[in-house]
Amino acid sequence: MSRKKARRFGKKKEMRQRIAKERIKILLAMAEEQALAGEMELADRYTFLARKIGMRYQVRMPRGFNLIFCRKCLTYLVPSRNSTFRMTGGRITRQCLKCGSYYRLPIGVKREQ
Ligand SMILES: [Zn+2]
Repeated sequence: MSRKKARRFGKKKEMRQRIAKERIKILLAMAEEQALAGEMELADRYTFLARKIGMRYQVRMPRGFNLIFCRKCLTYLVPSRNSTFRMTGGRITRQCLKCGSYYRLPIGVKREQ
């Protein structure tokens, strides 16, 4: 984003984004809890809402978010239950067992967050 734009929205935007980040964190924690309890529909719903907040406030989702969420079929993924993980040449490959889509995350690359 350009500097000019950042200044235009100023502190208010920063604050909104901070709150949005907080809400995303809470929703993802709730999703995890529900998924572990076997309530997959609720887990899907919470992750969906978290993603929606992220899009609404232009907040980047936490690193690795796409490893636990399938963008294609909007499903919360639990390793070995509805997704598989594989390490391939410096990348983590996640496959959604519901729709079969792949997501690859390079590892060893430093990024903020
Ligand atoms: Zn899927």
